[in-house]
Amino acid sequence: MTGSPRGRAHLFMTGRFKTHRPVHKGEPMNSIPNAPGVYILVFYLSQTTTITFNRKSSQHSFPSGWYVYVGSARGPGGLSRRVARHQRRNADGKRMHWNVDYFRELAPIVEVWYSYTRSEQMEHEWASAVSSMHGATVPVQGFGANDCRQCCSAHFVHFTERPATSLFRSRLRDLIAQQPSVFVEFADDALTAMTVSKHMLFVEYHRGRRFTELRHLAIAQSDLDVTSWHSLAKRRPARQLAEQVAAQLDVSFKELQKSIEFADAVETIVGNCGNMAFRVLFDPMRPQRRKGIMELSRTADTRQQYRIGGVTNGSFRSVGPQSKDSVYDTVAFKEVPSRLVRARGAVHQLDVHLQNGVQQSVATESDRLAELCLRAAEQLSKLVNAESAADHILPRELAKEVVWPTLMSRDVKGKIVGYGREALRLTIKSVWDYPEMRRRGILPTAAERRKVNQECERIIASAESVRVAVLGQRT
Ligand SMILES: [Zn+2]
Repeated sequence: MTGSPRGRAHLFMTGRFKTHRPVHKGEPMNSIPNAPGVYILVFYLSQTTTITFNRKSSQHSFPSGWYVYVGSARGPGGLSRRVARHQRRNADGKRMHWNVDYFRELAPIVEVWYSYTRSEQMEHEWASAVSSMHGATVPVQGFGANDCRQCCSAHFVHFTERPATSLFRSRLRDLIAQQPSVFVEFADDALTAMTVSKHMLFVEYHRGRRFTELRHLAIAQSDLDVTSWHSLAKRRPARQLAEQVAAQLDVSFKELQKSIEFADAVETIVGNCGNMAFRVLFDPMRPQRRKGIMELSRTADTRQQYRIGGVTNGSFRSVGPQSKDSVYDTVAFKEVPSRLVRARGAVHQLDVHLQNGVQQSVATESDRLAELCLRAAEQLSKLVNAESAADHILPRELAKEVVWPTLMSRDVKGKIVGYGREALRLTIKSVWDYPEMRRRGILPTAAERRKVNQECERIIASAESVRVAVLGQRT
């Protein structure tokens, strides 16, 4: 058998390539090839632990959580030999050499992420990618980076939340255009050590992800078209792989299929909401239902962020989407014009009702809402056409803390002021979101800018008409 990645494809396809086996002490854990490459060890530390380094010359306390170590293997035996070395402990006869060896004594390796490469640079690119992920902190300066002559901030990083492979892959793509595929190897003993096996949803996620990661590897190693790996229909290559994985995990194909769907759902949500979504989805203190997670994964990314954020801050218990959810975070500019069309409809309704004369309290409140709505539309128009930075300054009267009480006030009740609040909410939302959209580079196209200007003009016209009607009623 050759060590090259492509050389394994044939074995893999015929099913003789046993992809996983239990890990025993002192034995290489992996089906990782002996090709040269770059790798990440993902450690899980279940509690804060003090670790002694360099034959007791120094000590450091490590908070619980997830640790990521970036290394490269270019010597004989390549990735396979290096990872096997990391997996062993001092008691297995390993000679202690690097800082990470001391850390590994007390922390189980949960996953290994790797790529085949001969590049000397890529280790540092991976270190940059991992350090730039949300929530990454450096526990000890210089740890694991003794040989690093580059300007990496660290080769060893801590996360409170589980770091998601999907987010790492996307961060790498942002950094470097031409990236080799990133593969994942799982370590069974570490999962047991995490004592999460009682958490059925987490087990389900892991089963499914084991398949999707193996499929990722198989796609890279086979000459088959990617689309042939999508379907789990009988006699398709993905089905054959799934059946192998199901046998290894000792579950039925049907069960694994459910797990695959679930893992896809979790990855989708984590991809849209970040690593913190893991904690929300699998928090033993606030257990979520599988059905709610599946439903959430099929909604828009804004809705996913809204629900995950809401469970995080305790506003609600379930991540399951509700029909009454108000979706507050804009992530794409295309939402702005459609929101304005709805705002225009609402302010028009308000205008129609005001023409017939209403109670004084309703008139006064409608006037206030219409005025703010008008100002918000003017401001939004200004923002999308902004030529100078001065146009980006939000006037005090449109600040969130000023407008919010008006928006939330229920002193005046009824359908009519409801239209006014709806119009204001939909209009001012985009004003508040604009700085974030600009930061993320989500800016309007020429067509979207025209549409925004047009809708804002209509909103302003209807809001002025409301104000005239209120003035007329007063006199
Ligand atoms: Zn470096």
